Amino acid sequence: MTKALIVGGGIAGDTLALLLERDGWLVTVAEIAPALRTGGQTVDLRGDSREVLENAGLLEKALECLVPQSGAAWIDETGRPLAKMPVEAFDGKGLVSKEELLRTDLARIIHEAAGPGVTHRFGETVEALEDQENGVLARFRGGDEEVFDLVVGADGAHSRVRALRFGPEVRYRRPLGLAHAWFTLDEKPGTPELDGWFLMHNAPGRRAVAARPGHAGQQEIGMTFGADTLPPRGDHEARFALLEETFAGVGWRTHEFLDAAKTAKDFSLDTLDQVHMPTWHDGRVVLVGDSAWCASPLSGLGTALALRGAAELASALREAGGRLPAALAAFESAMRPRVESAQKLPPGRVAAAAPNTKRGIRFNAWVMRTVQSKLLRPLMKRAFAATEHGRESVPSTV
Ligand SMILES: Cc1cc2nc3c(=O)[nH]c(=O)nc-3n(C[C@H](O)[C@H](O)[C@H](O)COP(=O)(O)OP(=O)(O)OC[C@H]3O[C@@H](n4cnc5c(N)ncnc54)[C@H](O)[C@@H]3O)c2cc1C
Repeated sequence: MTKALIVGGGIAGDTLALLLERDGWLVTVAEIAPALRTGGQTVDLRGDSREVLENAGLLEKALECLVPQSGAAWIDETGRPLAKMPVEAFDGKGLVSKEELLRTDLARIIHEAAGPGVTHRFGETVEALEDQENGVLARFRGGDEEVFDLVVGADGAHSRVRALRFGPEVRYRRPLGLAHAWFTLDEKPGTPELDGWFLMHNAPGRRAVAARPGHAGQQEIGMTFGADTLPPRGDHEARFALLEETFAGVGWRTHEFLDAAKTAKDFSLDTLDQVHMPTWHDGRVVLVGDSAWCASPLSGLGTALALRGAAELASALREAGGRLPAALAAFESAMRPRVESAQKLPPGRVAAAAPNTKRGIRFNAWVMRTVQSKLLRPLMKRAFAATEHGRESVPSTV
């Protein structure tokens, strides 16, 4: 029996735990949150996500959780559409897919599929990793120590494993100049219905708000704005004050969203960053998912890469038959081209997410209408098909 410690029980960590367990590993998952982390917007089931879930025998369960989708629409401050892109556009290969489920449901499906060979330690993380002759000694925050054959950092874009083993975040983080808040809004009597539409409103000064379908009676809200840094994580007051100040005067439903943000249980606020590293492994320690290569939500590929990365790592370990260095090198070779391609955001991608001027906003809407014209449709179909290896829905503006 070979023992693995996976730090971070998100999509990458829990998928890897499941696959390693099936190959006979004894797996410990140390997740810092007190329970499985829910929250997040929809993830679509095209490309890599679909293939990995299907191979893991989880596709059917995922398909049972689909959230009905009509498409994406860009609206003005009164809610009037400036451009619309229905799910049928580009033969279903456009921005929003018919087959989307909430990240919450995906995380739960993967988590629940783990068997008795996986132990989750919630509210736990590692404080130190020390190489020993036959493994890595992990010192847990709770005081325990244990030696593992393999330690995997699947602890997201602000990875502690990466900091412990590869150095500080600043060395690898590339901010894209935007920050994004997301949370779930509980509908009340009078809450405007979405009818399956992902609605986005842009305001000058790089501000964007969006609402998209969630579970029945809920909407998933996103608020995007220009920023490279944010007040500290624990300083909720300063974070909400920043949101209030930034979005003051923005029309449509922005007031309602600002109110809902304060009471949302799953409120998250972070900068949109990429993570670029020259290597993802060192000895018996390896990174997978956002901790290794965060491509940012603007790539639309974070979950697909996390699922594919977990599958490639499990398969490399299986095929190398115990030769760890060969397995980790094979994993890197398999993932590097996918990651590099996902990290190359199309020109203008960041600016289009939150245009600075009224003119930029009008131009964006014009582009969204024009790409659906008879003339450009075949070209766009090809462009969308080129990212066939997987896409998840972007969190807010597109
Ligand atoms: C709650 C949540 C909501 C999200 N919503 C969206 C969204 O709406 N749109 C979007 O594009 N992306 C979203 N993401 C990011 C998206 O899930 C990832 O980009 C993608 O799935 C890659 O997954 P990952 O497993 O590498 O990282 P993540 O999904 O970020 O998972 C990392 C896990 O590690 C845990 N963790 C963090 N630090 C430590 C530590 N020190 N020790 C132990 N555990 C730790 C976290 O709690 C989390 O469970 C969300 C992530 C989370 C956690």
